[in-house]
Amino acid sequence: ITVNDVMEETTPIINKKTSIKQASKTMMKNNSTHLPVITQNGKIAGIITAWDIAKAVSEDLKELEDVMTNNVVTANPNESIRSVINKIKKHNISALPVVDKKQKVIGTISSDVISQLITKDT
Ligand code: SAM
Repeated sequence: ITVNDVMEETTPIINKKTSIKQASKTMMKNNSTHLPVITQNGKIAGIITAWDIAKAVSEDLKELEDVMTNNVVTANPNESIRSVINKIKKHNISALPVVDKKQKVIGTISSDVISQLITKDT
């Protein structure tokens, strides 16, 4: 079993030039707390989460680029679930965008999905 087997394929994505307000709206609309951020040419540029929006409000930051995380930890479709769990633990995160060889976002893998897997197997 690899990332490809369990990832969510319908991932909402936002552009780097999006406003923080629009990013928040996209989160609410899609019931999602993690949004991969992409460049104009469609490659992954970072990630913004509900935590970052809280930070923007508390520190009065206005630009998406000031609050998103640029150093995004990603997964690839052929990666093992074990490897994803290691990344989640190491970086204290709960979701990873899944990217193809061209760095295009093709899905998301989250700790929620991984927890569901465990309950299914036992
Ligand atoms: N340490 C805090 C805590 O325990 O509440 C924050 C948790 S987590 C480290 C929050 C940060 O992780 C956010 O700034 C978010 O952008 C970042 N983050 C979430 N998913 C990420 C990922 N896949 N790669 C890199 N950073 C990520």
